[in-house]
Amino acid sequence: MEITFTSGGTEADNLAIFGIVPFDGHIVASSIEHHAVLHAVKRACHVGAKLSLLPVDRCGRVDPDDVMGALTKDTSLISVMMANNETGVIQPVNEIGEIARKHGILFHVDAVQAAGKLSIDVEKIGCDLLSISGHKMHGPQGSGALFIRRGVELQPMLYGGSHEMGRRAGTENVAGIVGLGLAAQLGTAGLADGTQGGIGRLRDDLEEALLRKHDYAAVNGFSRDRISNTSNIRFEGIDGAMLLMILDELGVSVSGGSACAADSQDGSHVLRAMGLSIAQSQSSIRFSLSKMSTSLEVEMVVEKTSQALSRLHSMRREKTIS
Ligand code: PLP
Repeated sequence: MEITFTSGGTEADNLAIFGIVPFDGHIVASSIEHHAVLHAVKRACHVGAKLSLLPVDRCGRVDPDDVMGALTKDTSLISVMMANNETGVIQPVNEIGEIARKHGILFHVDAVQAAGKLSIDVEKIGCDLLSISGHKMHGPQGSGALFIRRGVELQPMLYGGSHEMGRRAGTENVAGIVGLGLAAQLGTAGLADGTQGGIGRLRDDLEEALLRKHDYAAVNGFSRDRISNTSNIRFEGIDGAMLLMILDELGVSVSGGSACAADSQDGSHVLRAMGLSIAQSQSSIRFSLSKMSTSLEVEMVVEKTSQALSRLHSMRREKTIS
């Protein structure tokens, strides 16, 4: 059994980190990881571990050479996500897997955002641990899993019964596990039947229309190597939080970076790592599409976003006059 079911992506990430890294170990992780990884590795540092955080380029991609350069004789784990949750940018995990294998270091991949949107082959990646989450694939919230390669020894985080081969005590969430399995099956089918390609075309239409109408807008992490559903757009000079509120009023749900860090005063750690200023980060919002999205909805979102932006511009003009 190489799969341990968990309560979601957060638990899978935490299990991969705390289950592997010894108190005096060294971790190499990217600076754009989800907080489920970043906060966990920082916690590991509080109790003795060492951490090297990898930079990313302007597009939000980790350079495998930086991974190589960060390794020390004490490195016990490399953790780099497959696709970023804020920008959708796909990371070079196959190349990093090769480096990890060559140096005999365990490699964890947070594939929470990639699952159902990209084909995942743990052999091709060459990873030892990989996290997924049900609700990112239209599955039930509170379900997830950690792939643990046969032979990898991992300390449990939860102690109790011998469930999951002693790796995670506690009665299994059978309904969640069944839902996760079905979601994974349907997600895999969607890779082959053109569903993801269709979502990508809608996302491109959305970006094209918004950028055509608003010349001060730009896509953060614009790259061909992005998962199909994510679009992170910066409306230079606009208060993203206000835009988000107006859009919400108009019936459009978008996100300001990561939903899990909505209260950050310093802007998104992902956009900041890509070289954006706090102001640029705070003028960015994320649109997420799915297989349920339609071209009519895209048109409506473009229309409502333009309405919201003109409202913000006129509010600014009124403020300047008064
Ligand atoms: N990792 C990534 C990349 C995510 O996007 C998320 C959730 O948004 C998580 C981990 C956490 O997963 P969960 O919400 O299932 O705990």
